[in-house]
Parts: sequence; C-alpha cells; structure tokens
Amino acid sequence: MSSELLRNLKPSETLGSIAKVNKLKEKGINVISFGAGEPDFPTPKPIKEEAEKALNNDFTKYTPTSGIIELRDAICQKLLKDNKIEYKPSNIVVSNGAKHSLFNICYAICPAGGEILIQKPYWVSYPDMIYAAGGVPVNVVSSSSKTFKVSATDLEKKRTDKTVAFIINSPNNPTSEVYSKDELKDIAEWALKNNVWIISDEIYEKIVFNGHEHYSIPYLCPDMKDKTFVVNGMSKAYSMTGWRIGYAAGPEDIIKKIVLFQSHTTSCPNSIAQKAAVKALDGEAKDVEGMVTAFERRKEIIFKGINEIKGLKANKPEGAFYILVDCSEILKGREISDFCNFLLDNVHILVISGNAFGIENHVRLSFATSDENIIEGLKRLAKGVELWINSL
Ligand code: PMP
Ligand code: GLU
Repeated sequence: MSSELLRNLKPSETLGSIAKVNKLKEKGINVISFGAGEPDFPTPKPIKEEAEKALNNDFTKYTPTSGIIELRDAICQKLLKDNKIEYKPSNIVVSNGAKHSLFNICYAICPAGGEILIQKPYWVSYPDMIYAAGGVPVNVVSSSSKTFKVSATDLEKKRTDKTVAFIINSPNNPTSEVYSKDELKDIAEWALKNNVWIISDEIYEKIVFNGHEHYSIPYLCPDMKDKTFVVNGMSKAYSMTGWRIGYAAGPEDIIKKIVLFQSHTTSCPNSIAQKAAVKALDGEAKDVEGMVTAFERRKEIIFKGINEIKGLKANKPEGAFYILVDCSEILKGREISDFCNFLLDNVHILVISGNAFGIENHVRLSFATSDENIIEGLKRLAKGVELWINSL
C-alpha cells in the first residue's frame, strides 16, 4: 500500500519508451526510435575530460548540498550573460536534473491541495510531480485555434483562491512552440497582479529555430524576479542526460528550504558531474551551436517528410526537438495508442502517444536522432500509415 501522494502516479511514458526500444533491440529487431527526447550526440570531449580529472583528483566526496561554489558561480554568470538576470550563488540550488529541481520547487511552494496551472498539452511529468508534491495540476487550454500557447486571459479563467503557480515551458515539449516576448510579458504581469509563482522550465532554451528567441520572465518583468524560479540544466544543451545535473534560480528564502530538503533526501548532486558541468558552462558554445545546427536541419527533414504523408499534419517546430503530429484524419474512430502499437509491430518505429501529454489523436516524435534514422523512419512511417489505413 503506497502513501496517498504516490497512489495515482503513472509511469513516465517517455522514459518507458527507452526500455521498450532496448528490449526490442536485444531481440535483434531494428527499431527506429522517435521516443524519448535525448540528444544523440556524445557529451563533448572537454566535459568528459574534466570529469576524468575530477575522478583522478579524488573529487569523490560529498559536496555542499546546494552544489559546489564554482558551479553556482558559473550558473550565475550564465544567467547574467544569456538571460540578463543577476543572481547570487545563494539564489541557486543544483539538483539531480531539471526534473528534480522542478519537483523540489513544487514541494517547497505548494500547500496540500494547492493548484498549479500547466499548459495542456503538457510535458508528461508535470501532473505527476505536482501530485507527488501534494498539489493538484490544473490544465489550461489555449483559447486560440492557431496555437497551443496559453494567454494571461486563459490563465485567469482557471485561477482560483487555491492557485499557487503556473509552470511555463518555452521552447515547449511536446508542442515545440516558443512563447514570444509580448506573450511572456502579459503572463508575467498577470502573475504579478495575482501573486502567482512562475516556474519557468527553460531546459530547451538553446534550441530555437528560424529567428525565434528565448526570453526569461525576470528579465522581461524585473518585479517578478522574487516570484519566479528559472529552471535549467545540462541535459539538453550539452547532451548530458545521464549526468543528472539541473538547477533552479529563485528567491533566497525558498532556495534555502530546498537546500534543507535536499540535505535530508539526496545530500548533494554527484560531485564528478558537478565539475563537468562547470566546464560545460565555461565555454562549450561551439559544440552547442553544432548540435543546434543539426537539430535545425533535422527539423526541416522531418517537418517536410511528415506533411508529405497523406493524413498526417504537423506545424513547423519553433524550438526544442519534437514534432507533434495530428493523426485525426487516419484514426477513424480507432485509438491513438493502437496506432502507436501498430507502427511498432509492423514497421518498427517508436512514437509516443499524445495521451502521455494530454492531447488526443496526436503522436509526438523526437528528432534528436540521426539524419539517417529520420530519413529511414519517415519511409517506415509512410508505409505504416498506408498499412494502417488499409487495415480498416
Ligand atoms: N523539462 C522538460 C520540458 C523536459 O522535456 C525534460 C526532459 N529531459 C526535463 C525538464 C528534465 O530534464 P533533466 O531532468 O534531464 O534535466
Ligand atoms: N524529457 C524527455 C522527453 O520528454 C526525456 C525523458 C524524460 O525526462 O521524461 O522525452
């Protein structure tokens, strides 16, 4: 019997997809995965070398719970340089991935039954982490037919006296949309007026296309600085998903509470990974640019390829490395999860059902995989759709 808080948790379908693919590969099946979103590039060499150095120098003990000072300094410099927000190391807590940072924030600010607003479609883990923190996720749907992005008016419709926070993720997983400067300003002003926290998940910050730009709310609305958490990490920008380093920047009093909580739960983030993260923030921009160029090229291939398949529709991704595909036309009353299973069984490609993100009749494809895989995967997808339509 589990605790009340954990009773309703569902498995993470994105992480589950990795296990599914590995199992099939073990059986000798050549699966192409458009599943979990993790860059296919190796972690850049200088970052790995820094980790080796840390290991050889026996940097293998507990570190300060909030993270080593070099890393918190490097994060402050990054936030100043890239996001134009001034923080002190005491405003920063380093955790085991941005996912951990997000959970800690929810846990720190949400009273039992407090409501946290999320845009629907949402990233798979938001509802569950809010439940696990004792809160209630409240879905906000865009009133526009052109975008999934929610406006201050949409948020206001869902605000109650229990509303604690709004989690915003831009560039967005799974929609790949990027909120504009004006949209963010409006949301920040609404939050300020109504005393609502903003939890800004900026993990895909570096991956923006076609002139779209990323902005942080405390830069656009300095009065919101003490009511905003900026969350980011190493996973996506530096291809360091397994190293598990993420961080939150926010008001010192709550950051202190999170550090206290970590001191009783995880002690500190991994010592070696922290040293590697300092190196990443110190100057791996060239690798980052190379990865973004590859994502930009892959985005074009996948966007064109999907829209050439009769019955499938997708908008052009503006950021991150996902494409959300509308499959309504080919479902004809059948379930989207059956379509996903059909693709896996018949043409050996893995896509994630929109149900994981709270959107019906859609699938999400991650294009953080090689050009060759994308090209071959698109051929298989076209074949799979044809077989699916003919199987009616
Ligand atoms: N936020 C979003 C929107 C994500 O897609 C992910 C997936 N990695 C994370 C946070 C968490 O990243 P990590 O824990 O690997 O830093
Ligand atoms: N965030 C990625 C995704 O949505 C990786 C898996 C996860 O962290 O859940 O696929």
